[in-house]
Amino acid sequence: MNVGFDLDGVLYDWHRAVYNDCVSHEDYEGSFREFWTGYFQSFPRNKQKNFCYRDPLYSSQIPSKKLLKFLDSVAKEHEIFYVTARSDECYLTTKFYMERYNFPYSYNLVLAKDKATIIKLHRIDIFIDDFPSNLDEIGSSATTFLIKKPWNEEVMDNYNTILSVFDLEGVLLSEH
Ligand SMILES: [Mg+2]
Repeated sequence: MNVGFDLDGVLYDWHRAVYNDCVSHEDYEGSFREFWTGYFQSFPRNKQKNFCYRDPLYSSQIPSKKLLKFLDSVAKEHEIFYVTARSDECYLTTKFYMERYNFPYSYNLVLAKDKATIIKLHRIDIFIDDFPSNLDEIGSSATTFLIKKPWNEEVMDNYNTILSVFDLEGVLLSEH
């Protein structure tokens, strides 16, 4: 099968990097949940966007050994695609990050706002994301899973919701 993963909120903890940045540099004292269920959304649009273009936020979170081992196991049985809505300006940072940590199939990195089209184009069978509207757009062209996060809790019951990608061992790995 072809298996697609979103990056931020699925394989990479970008939200934690942004939260940590605001705790360190803006003296934010609220919780991670409070930050992502209202505080960040209260920022002006251009400030929100600014976070999306800051390279260090896309490389500061080191992938766990468990995650890399899991992806290697998945790669033995399936082709992996990484489909992210990161902006083109972040392409090199993202690519270097994946190569540095030996993500399998790192050459299958696709930056696209329209994920649904990419899913169809690459005939991706299973796709995992943390943003419900992305899964809505993909519809029935792939089997989709939603990673449970504070920002999607209100609607998560409408999706195949999992706590982390490790919950897919039974779906993706023949031996586990
Ligand atoms: Mg995401």
